[in-house]
Amino acid sequence: MLSPATKITLSAALSAILLQTALPTQAKPQTPQQQAQTAIFYQKAKKELPKDWYVVYRVIDRIARANGLDNSPWRAIVIPEYNINAFATDVNLIAIYSGIIDQLAGDSSAIACVVGHEMAHHTKRHIAVGKAEKAALIAQIEKEAEAEVVAEKKDAESDANQNSFGGAVLGTLGNVLGGWGNTVSNVGQSSLSNASKQRKAEAQKRIQEIVTLKKAELEQRLAESDRRQEFEADEMGYQYIARAGFEPEGCLRLMEVFARTPSAEFDTTHPAVPKRIERLKELMAKYPPLTLAQEGKLKISASQPLTYDLSQDGNSLRINSRRGGSAADDIDRRFKQ
Ligand SMILES: [Zn+2]
Repeated sequence: MLSPATKITLSAALSAILLQTALPTQAKPQTPQQQAQTAIFYQKAKKELPKDWYVVYRVIDRIARANGLDNSPWRAIVIPEYNINAFATDVNLIAIYSGIIDQLAGDSSAIACVVGHEMAHHTKRHIAVGKAEKAALIAQIEKEAEAEVVAEKKDAESDANQNSFGGAVLGTLGNVLGGWGNTVSNVGQSSLSNASKQRKAEAQKRIQEIVTLKKAELEQRLAESDRRQEFEADEMGYQYIARAGFEPEGCLRLMEVFARTPSAEFDTTHPAVPKRIERLKELMAKYPPLTLAQEGKLKISASQPLTYDLSQDGNSLRINSRRGGSAADDIDRRFKQ
């Protein structure tokens, strides 16, 4: 048991730590000198990073700072493939194809809309929970199908047992009646075993039908859940980019590009593009972009550009948290001895 005095000391120490971690977001707006340093920092990044990587870095840096999403590192990877797509995977990893960056050349707001949408998939936990939810759904449906299959099998087996019982009775009768009876018995047995085979085949067919139906139901439920998540990511992504000061119309321009891809007008794993455009317009009215931009501007001016490194697996760019990319340096800063 801690003594009251120890408790007070501990809680004082804890609030000191909390105060320390809260300080960066309460920092004052950048001085002109700091602004000049920021410009130099970005120029260096532009020289160091390949063109597409620089764009993605700048977009993530700005969205993260404007929305308070700079508490832990992000990872980004540009896949050199002409594909009009991007995806979120692993933990805080955004993968974007060079094809979509090329298709949106000159329009950083539209690219920001792609990135903001993928960041939202992470913050809304669609990646972490989505996989577990899908696995649980699949397990549940498999269990249901199995239970129904077992019931069907039992029916078929009991049919088969009744038939063999009937055959045995006829067989006994045949023995009692002698040669003529045997003929009756053989005919009866063969027609019963045919009926049994047919019932078994019918049961097998019904089982197959159940499994097909359940699979179709599962696919439909999964697609509905995917589409719900896509709308959520659009909604959150729009707010992210508007706070970061990008043009929200960038999202509409992105949708124009998506609208030219095959099956854009249909609901697939993604909602149909016209529905996404309609929702985006509703969002712009519900959350005015200027108000969001004001909120974000304060956060950006009170923070520093996020540093970047190659992630430890060497495959992606790590965009560091507001604490930087080196825990060793962080320890040195905190404890001089
Ligand atoms: Zn998505």
